[in-house]
Amino acid sequence: VSDVALREVSVAFDDVPALEDVSLSIETGEFFTLVGPSGCGKTTTLRTIAGFETPDSGRVEIGGEDVAGVPPENRHVGIVFQNYALFPHMTVRENVAYGLRYRDPPDGKSTGERVTELLELLDMKGMGDREPEELSGGQQQRVALARALAPGPDVLLLDEPLSALDARLRERLRVVIREIQQELDITTIYVTHDQSEALAISDRVAVIADGHLEQVGPPEAIYREPATRFVAEFVGDNNLLDGVVVSTDPPRVSLDPGGGLAEATTTAHGSGTTIPVDGVSDTNREVTLSIRPESLSIVEDGSSRLGGSNGPITLSATVETVEFMGDAYRVHCEWQGRELLVKTDADEPPSGTVTLSFDPESATFLEAP
Ligand code: ADP
Ligand code: MG
Repeated sequence: VSDVALREVSVAFDDVPALEDVSLSIETGEFFTLVGPSGCGKTTTLRTIAGFETPDSGRVEIGGEDVAGVPPENRHVGIVFQNYALFPHMTVRENVAYGLRYRDPPDGKSTGERVTELLELLDMKGMGDREPEELSGGQQQRVALARALAPGPDVLLLDEPLSALDARLRERLRVVIREIQQELDITTIYVTHDQSEALAISDRVAVIADGHLEQVGPPEAIYREPATRFVAEFVGDNNLLDGVVVSTDPPRVSLDPGGGLAEATTTAHGSGTTIPVDGVSDTNREVTLSIRPESLSIVEDGSSRLGGSNGPITLSATVETVEFMGDAYRVHCEWQGRELLVKTDADEPPSGTVTLSFDPESATFLEAP
């Protein structure tokens, strides 16, 4: 059985849907991340699992049991919120001990032993007698994590725990969270609006938009094979080009502006840009091609292979702006009135007219909107 499951869960506030028919299964020991823009329903999903919201329809299962009617304190979940929510006039030790108000420490430990153990786990040894205002934001969030873990919950819920911290600290602390999660082997549901954070530390990611799931999968699949236009745009940098299926045997897509069947004749004679595509059976269908910036390369010699049946596709483009990223250049090019973003690890910034090349296998086709 899955450790946590949502079965067609819908939640509305004042008749406005916040979650619609959301179904998810999270496995034991998994680090599962919900990612999506602000207002898409991430916090509502966590609050529903924790028991602070009641689904209007559908159900929540924890450890295979329907938890309808089970109050939050009996669901054996630990929660960390975005704002640390520590008690300002309690010491660090007292704040962590507060996590044990409903349940005794696991393994017959005393409260004092358990608090000490958690402060060690979170590298906060020696800070037990401080008050929250004497701590940095990152330390406060470690205390909040220790408090959530104190009773040994079955499931850890983290709602944007790092979003109040600066970028460098965020990147450090996300690794700390991942390490602790692996050390404890605790089922964790992590919420963030930051897609790079989601990709970095998760076993699986669910992309949410507007109260529904767009895609669920391992980070690599979400990045390399986005299922929808929303995912292709939201996760990582991407080039999205609208095209039309111009032939089916073999299937090819035309990317020419105003392309379509009118272009098919010229294409057949070797001009125009068409790209082979697997598994498309109907001509004239509109599709969107998604190409990651690192899948486009800038080639030295400009030999053109437009419309070639095999091998790379080449495009003649103009460099407009170059950003130096340290380990790469982000090159903004124009091709036939459209912007193409290219990531290259060249030593020098490219300029002027360039030939871009990509392997059609590296492109993903999405249904046009
Ligand atoms: P996220 O955490 O992804 O930013 P939320 O789950 O907080 O999104 O909110 C989802 C939607 O539900 C938003 O439109 C938000 O305004 C609405 N919402 C959330 N909580 C409440 C509430 N208690 N009352 C009314 N509307 C709410
Ligand atoms: Mg939220």
